[in-house]
Amino acid sequence: MAGEAQADCLFCKIVAGEIPSTKVRETEHTLAFRDINPQMPTHVLVVPKAHYPNAAALADADPQLAGVVLAEAGRVAEEEKVDQSGYRLIFNTGSGAGQTVFHAHVHVLGGNAGLREKL
Ligand code: 5GP
Ligand code: ZN
Repeated sequence: MAGEAQADCLFCKIVAGEIPSTKVRETEHTLAFRDINPQMPTHVLVVPKAHYPNAAALADADPQLAGVVLAEAGRVAEEEKVDQSGYRLIFNTGSGAGQTVFHAHVHVLGGNAGLREKL
């Protein structure tokens, strides 16, 4: 069924507490934790607790939850104090774009002047 935990999914295991993570925020339906290999001073991942393979699949199946994930990303940026300086939200989608974990997640990246360079 859509959204069900997948036994072989790293982020489902993090959500279940089977793999430790450095938690930043948690709500009923979302978890935010620090990326294990940070690319910027602030590098937090926000995931829905339910399993969807990528952000588009999440938004298609549960647009409200997709909105909650985005709102949580904004709250993380505020708490990390990068909301004023600026931050970037990235959803890698597909292995060709660098997606390595196929559980929807948004990268919250900030605290680096390099962000001023546009993609
Ligand atoms: P993707 O490349 O799929 O967009 O992002 C996956 C992210 O998960 C990568 O930035 C990677 O560093 C991070 N990651 C991979 N394994 C772990 C882990 O066990 N714990 C945490 N906190 N992050 C992880
Ligand atoms: Zn999962």
